[in-house]
Amino acid sequence: MHKSEANPEMICPCCSSDKTKRLFSKCCQNYIERIALPETAEMLMRSRYSAYVIENSEYLLDSWHPDTSPDNIEFDPKTKWLGLKVILCTKGKKHDDEGWVKFVARYKVDGKAHRLEEHSYFTKSKGQWLYISAKDFDMTSK
Ligand SMILES: [Zn+2]
Repeated sequence: MHKSEANPEMICPCCSSDKTKRLFSKCCQNYIERIALPETAEMLMRSRYSAYVIENSEYLLDSWHPDTSPDNIEFDPKTKWLGLKVILCTKGKKHDDEGWVKFVARYKVDGKAHRLEEHSYFTKSKGQWLYISAKDFDMTSK
């Protein structure tokens, strides 16, 4: 059982600015529960953030490229996720095969606020977006 099964009125943790996707059941839950595949790298990234929030390691591992994925994911019970802001998407659209998403995730550990800024790289394999890694990406060199 995951935390997501608790409340159908839950607001989606990914903080989508799209009002039609305010509820978890209308947003990332569809991807996390494999009802639909994310069409863009951004949606995969958002659903992975939400999976961290609800501590669904199966989804995180399944959406992680096998070359770079860990054997398992452990969640730190002290980490409380506060919100996600997507800053920039490069490619990663429906018809692309790769994409980059820059984002800031905020969280608290023991009451102290932290900020994680990451530039993540995704590829699409057999119609499915996969997370590869976070890396430094020089926008000018592409
Ligand atoms: Zn969402």
